[in-house]
Amino acid sequence: MTASASTSSASSAYAHAVAARVRDARDRIAAARDRGGHGQDVTLVAVTKTHGVEAVRAVAAAGVTDVGENRVQEAEPKRAECGVPLRWHLIGHVQRNKAASAVQFDLVHSLDSDRLATALNRAAADAGKQCEVLVQVNVSGEQSKYGVAAAEVAALAERLHECSSLKVRGIMTMAPFDAEEALLRQVFADARACAHTLRAAGHDASVLSMGMSGDFEIAVEEGATHVRLGTMLFGERAG
Ligand SMILES: *Cc1c(COP(=O)(O)O)cnc(C)c1O
Repeated sequence: MTASASTSSASSAYAHAVAARVRDARDRIAAARDRGGHGQDVTLVAVTKTHGVEAVRAVAAAGVTDVGENRVQEAEPKRAECGVPLRWHLIGHVQRNKAASAVQFDLVHSLDSDRLATALNRAAADAGKQCEVLVQVNVSGEQSKYGVAAAEVAALAERLHECSSLKVRGIMTMAPFDAEEALLRQVFADARACAHTLRAAGHDASVLSMGMSGDFEIAVEEGATHVRLGTMLFGERAG
């Protein structure tokens, strides 16, 4: 076999394996949505961080339309190279000096402070665009996690009305790793309540970005509209 033939059969085996995992994820999402009874649409965001552009191409070939990355520096070359139109989600913490790059994403999930709101708003205005954002909420109060406390959401919601270049679309949350089911349900329900707070303040905040490989079924049962799956689709990350 020539080198190029073996490379292409390896890459099609990879694409096949990823497509099977995408199907499995979709089936499990659909079943969880039926169990939960919220009747929402659920977008599968494939988290390609630490994986190469072939991961992006493989999920796109499997019909995925949305991909997520943690870092702007890592996303930009993949976005340029992948050769397919996708919606790009920025899901990791954003440093304010990266705001200009961050506003190029289709949805920023990680608006976690007043100061970042100011920076993103200015960057979006400079770029002549509206930037769609989710407020990252830290409802479990874990020290290690970014995000605003539930009690701070109402004040931030008011402040965000001054940011005319930001569109607040909902919330994102990360549940504690390896928590029991009852706690996970509580975290997701509390996050859902934070989105309600945003709506009560007048924002068009219908997005609930919650659920990762270990907890997405419970998140969907609790109303998630976006799940962010990395490990389930691509296997364990090296770093
Ligand atoms: C890495 C990451 C994910 C994906 O996590 P998996 O457990 O690999 O599915 C989802 N959301 C955020 C914010 C992440 O950083």
